Amino acid sequence: NKQVLLRDYVTGFPKESDMDVKTSSIKLKVPDGSKAVLVKNLYLSCDPYMRGRMNRPIIASYIGSFQPGSPIAGYGVSKVLDSGHPDFKKGDLVWGITGWEEYSLITATESLFKIHNTDVPLSYYTGILGMPGMTAYAGFYEICSPKKGEYVFVSAASGAVGQLVGQFAKLLGCYVVGSAGSKDKVDLLKNKFGFDEAFNYKEESDLGAALKRYFPEGIDIYFENVGGKMLDAVLQNLRVHGRIAVCGMISQYNLERPEGVHSLSALFLKQARMEGFLVPSFYHKYSNYLELVLPYIKEGKVTYVEDIAEGLESGPAALVGLFTGRNVGKQVVVVARE
Ligand code: NDP
Repeated sequence: NKQVLLRDYVTGFPKESDMDVKTSSIKLKVPDGSKAVLVKNLYLSCDPYMRGRMNRPIIASYIGSFQPGSPIAGYGVSKVLDSGHPDFKKGDLVWGITGWEEYSLITATESLFKIHNTDVPLSYYTGILGMPGMTAYAGFYEICSPKKGEYVFVSAASGAVGQLVGQFAKLLGCYVVGSAGSKDKVDLLKNKFGFDEAFNYKEESDLGAALKRYFPEGIDIYFENVGGKMLDAVLQNLRVHGRIAVCGMISQYNLERPEGVHSLSALFLKQARMEGFLVPSFYHKYSNYLELVLPYIKEGKVTYVEDIAEGLESGPAALVGLFTGRNVGKQVVVVARE
């Protein structure tokens, strides 16, 4: 059983060498009397929150740390090979938390969702049909309280979550601008995802001035994925009754001392709302989301771009690449295709 193990706790930017790929043995059978599920992992999802799990456990986090010497874990798409659980049987396809390894014995079966729709790429259950999709759905529709015609700004806009938020906002009739870290990503936002405008934040010396250029009347909704200087710039450009959905702050995850945000007084001056959320609190709405998004995919109203890394060995590089913006779209690792 090939596995990706955490070598030791990480400080600062994660490196490929913080993980090892090793082979160990596993019995391809659920132990007698156990309610666990034995799966073959097909697609693994690289997600920014996994960085928090590489910290020494004393650093506060909403989810536990990985164990040095043990395989890391994350969302994935898997096929059931053996099951001691009445809800799962051999041959079922599932998505949920699994190990970064070829085969996993999953005991936390409450985090598994059964896959019923297989007329879409299975890898989509790491992205648009999985956790990042639910994040875009809950964050945009529930936290942003969006209305037709509003001015929407999305950061890390070409990524797993951002590309969907922008498309959902366009479908609602909003004016949408995205920021991303390369020319190719900016082109993707404008030409593939239908954003009204997009810019490369790395080429802007004054982010506040850049936002003023695209939002002369200010921003109604900011879908926050990056934090730091971008958040400050948005606060300076908020409209009255603006809303900020704090989905994540990837620019801060590798800093030992997070950057200060100086413009928070905009929240009362503009009578604005800033609200954080964690997607697992919305998983009870997953079937509602599928009802909305599956037709969108089939009718071509929403498109989804993935960045596919082949083989478990490519996992560590793919994962750390999230923090340098190497990924173009949703970063997926293929372990096996069936
Ligand atoms: P992405 O697919 O967007 O990948 C991460 C991207 O972040 C990179 O490609 C890079 O794009 C950008 N980035 C990396 N470092 C920086 C930096 N220092 N400053 C600005 N941008 C940076 O990831 P996801 O779509 O999966 O996640 C987006 C955000 O959503 C993250 O903050 C994540 O933690 C959060 N999240 C929150 C959830 C929740 O429940 N609240 C659930 C899922 C995700 P670029 O080239 O544009 O810089």
